[in-house]
Amino acid sequence: MQPSVSIKDLSLNFGSVKVLERLNLDIAQGEFIVLLGPSGCGKSTLLNCIAGLLDVSDGQIFINGKNVTWEEPKDRGIGMVFQSYALYPQMSVERNLSFGLRVSGMPKAEIDKRVKRAAEILQIEPLLQRKPANLSGGQRQRVAIGRALVRDVDVFLFDEPLSNLDAKLRSDLRVEIKRLHQRLKNTMIYVTHDQIEALTLADRIAIMKNGVIQQLADPHTIYNKPVNLYVAGFIGSPS
Ligand code: ADP
Ligand code: MG
Repeated sequence: MQPSVSIKDLSLNFGSVKVLERLNLDIAQGEFIVLLGPSGCGKSTLLNCIAGLLDVSDGQIFINGKNVTWEEPKDRGIGMVFQSYALYPQMSVERNLSFGLRVSGMPKAEIDKRVKRAAEILQIEPLLQRKPANLSGGQRQRVAIGRALVRDVDVFLFDEPLSNLDAKLRSDLRVEIKRLHQRLKNTMIYVTHDQIEALTLADRIAIMKNGVIQQLADPHTIYNKPVNLYVAGFIGSPS
């Protein structure tokens, strides 16, 4: 089966600073992959390249076999959820969920169906008429996930979606994201610096340091057979 996302020799420089250098990564259809590493190692940069929010310096990105390296973000079949919720403050939850679909000219009946389904999956039906200011952090993040969900995308990108939340909410939403993945079975690329999140969510973890993937393996292998001291130290495993 062809990979869901394939990254080939990807390089990204900010001026003379090389943030990503000839990075390669194949992600399978339906895989939950976690990019794990300390602040500044290039996780968001990589995600933003996949999303099309940054122009790559060199290399290619394929989604479902199609070269999307120079495609607009909206044409890539991806949905992105950020750490800050990026909701429209003046719009109701319902409007926040439907806005992108309205802009695309989708028929109202189809929009309503998708909003209803997303609200049901994320258990935010009672909140549809509220404004973001009247939601808790966890509820806002659910709405942010809902906005990716209604677009019916093949690939979800998450950039530290839980790091603004307190510990209890983080663990609750972790369980929900896992459940969401089990239900939708789409590809998820999830950025975090939180080892617990990585170990509990991932099919495979890519451990990054200075823009380079140090090890790519399932959580059990990463934890029990780290390839070097950096990985061992970062994941907190005995070695
Ligand atoms: P992470 O998400 O892993 O914390 P980032 O991808 O945000 O890391 O950043 C990787 C490196 O690129 C850091 O050294 C950061 O300072 C640098 N960087 C990120 N964005 C920019 C930018 N717009 N201009 C210049 N340097 C940047
Ligand atoms: Mg980041």
